[in-house]
Amino acid sequence: MESFDNTKTAEQTENESPAEQKRKYKPPKPKRKKAIYHIDELKSTGIRRRVEEYARELTRKFAIYAYAVISVVAFTFMLITMCSLGYEGLIDGNSIGVAETKEEIEAVRTSLNEEIKELSGSESGQVERLKFRLKVVSEENYTPSEEIRQNMVKYSSAMLVGCTIYVDGEPRVTLRTRKDAESALEKIKNQYFEEGMECTSEILNKIEFVSEETTYASASSVDGAVRALNDVTDSSRGYTVEEGDTLWGIARRNETTVNTLLELNPQLSAGETIVIRVGDIVQVPAPKPVVDVKTVIKDAVIEESVPNTMIEVEDASLYIGQSRIVDYGSDGWHKITADITRINGIEDEALRVLKKEEMLSNPVPGEIHIGITPVPKGIGSGYFSWPVSGARITSGFGPRWGSTHTGVDLAITLGTPVRASDEGRVVFAGWNSGGYGNLIKVDHGNGYQTWYAHLSKIYVRNGEVVSKGEVIGAVGSTGNSTGPHLHFEVRISGSPKNPLKYLP
Ligand SMILES: [Zn+2]
Repeated sequence: MESFDNTKTAEQTENESPAEQKRKYKPPKPKRKKAIYHIDELKSTGIRRRVEEYARELTRKFAIYAYAVISVVAFTFMLITMCSLGYEGLIDGNSIGVAETKEEIEAVRTSLNEEIKELSGSESGQVERLKFRLKVVSEENYTPSEEIRQNMVKYSSAMLVGCTIYVDGEPRVTLRTRKDAESALEKIKNQYFEEGMECTSEILNKIEFVSEETTYASASSVDGAVRALNDVTDSSRGYTVEEGDTLWGIARRNETTVNTLLELNPQLSAGETIVIRVGDIVQVPAPKPVVDVKTVIKDAVIEESVPNTMIEVEDASLYIGQSRIVDYGSDGWHKITADITRINGIEDEALRVLKKEEMLSNPVPGEIHIGITPVPKGIGSGYFSWPVSGARITSGFGPRWGSTHTGVDLAITLGTPVRASDEGRVVFAGWNSGGYGNLIKVDHGNGYQTWYAHLSKIYVRNGEVVSKGEVIGAVGSTGNSTGPHLHFEVRISGSPKNPLKYLP
């Protein structure tokens, strides 16, 4: 009784949450110090101390005010030095940029008008109506003259004969001159070059230059044309699903989203669940630029992983069609020198020409087990094996005590695994009240049946297909039995035969 009480108390304490324990513990309140001055003290040390404190307070306040004032003054000074007056150019009330002097903007207009005159061959359509407005601006906010020029171009109405680039028969972009068009294509062609390496490149599309009338304002600049020709169109390509692929994984590797994949592949979401199988072709986005560029880089040095191989091992414990990876191994790493080919900047590994290889670490092969056992169909081979091994035959087949013993009794330790004597289908698995106790009957589909009686455990169900040697139950002593043993029968068309004649 005493010990019980002790336990109870201990439990109670344990059950209290830390919060409850804290609530009970009250730390002593710190005593507030009271300043009590004797009248004499006030007159001498006390008053002096208060005066000193007041002086310190004043000093501190002054320091804050002084700091604030200095900050404001400094900021204003900075504003004055950083900002200056500039001129804003205006055409039809629209700003085209700000420069330090009117002359700078005028110079841009003069040079632009000269070019327009040269290209269009007439004085008309030049940029006129330029007005100025004084403006406060910080120096770094002056508009670069190239930007002023581009803003000004919009107000030219000049017509000229420009050069349109046709890609595979389609007009794509119009520039002011053929020279501009050629230089835009040259930039496109060389954009995937690797600095300091020997590179060659070609445009894979059919390119034509056609002279076409255009306005100076709408014709594209060289950089604008490069952007237009590099512009990607939505396109897709087929991806073949590999072992271990998931929709999410495919999306991530192709820099897209699962939703995009589902939009591109409506067949995937047709059912309730999304299923992708190895070998299926899934459309993945493959943005395609207007112009395709093939670049060859000679003697490129690349460090990359080397995929490992899988050693295939036959495994009888697996059915044909099944496989199991028992060791993943690991990839290697190598440094190579090769001529590589890039299509729109991405290497096509099929076109790689290997020149030199240096292994930095070797790949370690993995191991995969491949099933070789035929999938059971429930048809026996006609050849039987022992349902238990190492048993002692305690009673044979034949007449016994005035009747017939329909099988053999195999005495062995309780719980010993009982194996199907041949491949077949379970036609009975359960309790038999006629004396067999827990009984399994396997029909071998060829006229034979085998029976397994007095079992302590049944591991199979009626209708199940079992392979030869498969564990179906455990030795017991159920039903009409005097000790642990397996009563085993072989029957042909229902009539019991001497099992020993069928066992090896
Ligand atoms: Zn028996």
